[in-house]
Amino acid sequence: MGRLNSNQLLEPVIGRFAPSPTGPLHFGTLLAALGSYLLAKCSGGCWLLRVEDLDPPRVIPGSADAILTLLEQLGFEWDGDVVYQSDRYERYRQILEQLRGQGRVFDCNCTRREILASAPHPGEEGPVYPGTCRSGVRGSRSERAVRLRVPDDVIGYCDRVYGQQQQNLEKEVGDFVLHRVDGLFAYQLAVVVDDIDAGVTQVVRGADLLSSTPRQIYLYQCLGMIAPDYFHLPLAFGHNGKKLSKRHGDIGLVSVDNGSNMLWWALEFLGQSPPPELFDSPPGELLCWGLENFQSATIPTQDRQVEFRPSILLV
Ligand SMILES: [Zn+2]
Repeated sequence: MGRLNSNQLLEPVIGRFAPSPTGPLHFGTLLAALGSYLLAKCSGGCWLLRVEDLDPPRVIPGSADAILTLLEQLGFEWDGDVVYQSDRYERYRQILEQLRGQGRVFDCNCTRREILASAPHPGEEGPVYPGTCRSGVRGSRSERAVRLRVPDDVIGYCDRVYGQQQQNLEKEVGDFVLHRVDGLFAYQLAVVVDDIDAGVTQVVRGADLLSSTPRQIYLYQCLGMIAPDYFHLPLAFGHNGKKLSKRHGDIGLVSVDNGSNMLWWALEFLGQSPPPELFDSPPGELLCWGLENFQSATIPTQDRQVEFRPSILLV
């Protein structure tokens, strides 16, 4: 699990950024790109890029290329080839069968309504699966999901930003889906298999995934692997108090034109103190400043609203 051993400390950091191609790059995604880039590169490590196009109906054609092009224009340099999840279904299937061979997964033909009706208590992300199909499916419904059986144990880890985290998977989540009824592989499985295969040692991403992490750490345990270090980053909100994302239209959209300003705001949002005179400097200069000055200890844990003022001289 998420413990460090002395060997790991000596190995180079392998970080990654894994955008979903569901729209243009926005400020919320830029935070993860910048945070993962600086934390990997500050320590002389590698920074990998993975396109999370696992869910074809949600993919917007052209957006993966647009995100990669923009990252390049902003001066981000990734190591190795870009990995696409849509190329890796066979690998996910192989791991699923491995887990099946170990007796760790089971088919489930419960409907959402049945799970809601029988769940003992609501979980943070929907009803806790009550284990209905653990010893075999019931009824004649043929559509099936595949779930991972979870233990009645607390999975704990120390997030490098948010500190000690823990979750009882059985009580708070329930046996979770690895392969969905619609035939798609679940994010939890794909992200763990991808990170294992790429040798990722450091995961930097938004704090909305804090509560998914114990499930992922449990998957590492099932697969006999050591989980990476986790740095979760605070979330940026728009004016309506909701997480800043593609749904907010143009607010927070990153472009070549506003790239420097957005990088400046992103550094500031992540608890750094970029010099005001860099606000309009070329993006590469902001990244250089970040590489020399980034401190993970000052990353705040408070989600907050961002106002993208046209000039910091107005502050
Ligand atoms: Zn079931």
